[in-house]
Amino acid sequence: MNIRFPHGPVVPEIGIGTWFVGDVPARRDEEIAAIRAGLDAGLSVVDTAEMYGDGRSERLVGEAIAGRRDDVFLVSKVLPHHADAAGVRRAAQQSLQRLGTDRLDLYLLHWRGGVPVDETVAAFERLQGDGDILAWGVSNFDTEDLAELPAGCATDQVLYNPIRRGPELDLFPVLRVQQIPVMAYSPLEQARLLDDPRLRELADSLGASPAQLVLAWVVRTGDVLAIPKAATVAHALENATARELSLDDDVLTEMDELFPAPRHPVPLEML
Ligand code: NDP
Repeated sequence: MNIRFPHGPVVPEIGIGTWFVGDVPARRDEEIAAIRAGLDAGLSVVDTAEMYGDGRSERLVGEAIAGRRDDVFLVSKVLPHHADAAGVRRAAQQSLQRLGTDRLDLYLLHWRGGVPVDETVAAFERLQGDGDILAWGVSNFDTEDLAELPAGCATDQVLYNPIRRGPELDLFPVLRVQQIPVMAYSPLEQARLLDDPRLRELADSLGASPAQLVLAWVVRTGDVLAIPKAATVAHALENATARELSLDDDVLTEMDELFPAPRHPVPLEML
C-alpha cells in the first residue's frame, strides 16, 4: 500500500519518526543505523522537526541520509513562534543546513500558535516558489482549524493510534474529501500500547508482533501514513515488515472490540 500526496509524490504507508533521536551521544551510531536500515527496507518518509532536541534530531537525520538524499521523503516542522513571514524563512534555512540538504519534501507548521495561518502559508508558498520546500502542511490541526486554511495543504500530522481514535469521527472524513493524507504520529502510543495482553494475544495469533499489528491497523484505510520512531535496527526492520501484514475483517472487528472508537467527536489530542 502506498500513500499519494496531493502534489504528486507516492510514498510507503510506514515511515520513520525521530523525536528524541540524537539526544544521547552513546546511542547516535545505533540511531543512525536504524534510520539507514529503515530506508534500506523501503521506509522512505523521515519525519523530524526543528524542535526535536533543539536541532539535534535534524543533525542526526542529516548524517543518516548523507549521500542518499534522493531515497528520502524528508519532512520537517517549524515551531509556531517562528511561523511569521521572516521566521519561517529563517527556520527553514536552519533546518536545511542541519539536515545537509537543499530542499524539504514537506514542511509543516508544528501546531497552531499566535501567528495568523494565512501569514505562515504565504511564507510556505514563497519557500515553495524558491524550491526550498516542495510542499507544505500542518500538524495538530483539528477540523475547525483546517477550515481556515487556504488551499494547498499536503497533510495534517496528528496523534492517531488504537487508543486515540477521535479523529476518525470528524477530522479524517474532512481530509478524505479533500484527498489530503493523514500522517499518524505516536502510532505506537510511544510503546505504552504494546504491553496490552489482549493486543499481544491477537498479534500472536497472526504471527506478528504487537507493534506490527498496531502499525498495520493504523494504516489500514490506505490514506494514513504512520511514522513510528525506531531507535534500533531491529525495531526499524520489524516496523518495515509490518507493511506485509494485511488485516481481515475478523481482526478489524476484534481490534474494534479491544479499542472502541469514541461514540461522539472529541477534541484532537496532542502529545
Ligand atoms: P511512537 O508511537 O512511534 O513510539 C516510539 C516508541 O516505540 C519507542 O520507545 C520505540 O523504541 C518503540 N518502538 C518502535 N518500534 C518498535 C517495535 N517494533 N517494537 C517495540 N517497540 C517499538 O512514538 P513517537 O512519539 O516517537 O511518535 C513517532 C514520531 O511521530 C515521532 O518520533 C515524531 O517524528 C512524530 N511526532 C510528531 C508530533 C507532532 O506534534 N507533530 C508529536 C509526537 C511525535 P526504540 O526507541 O527503542 O526503538
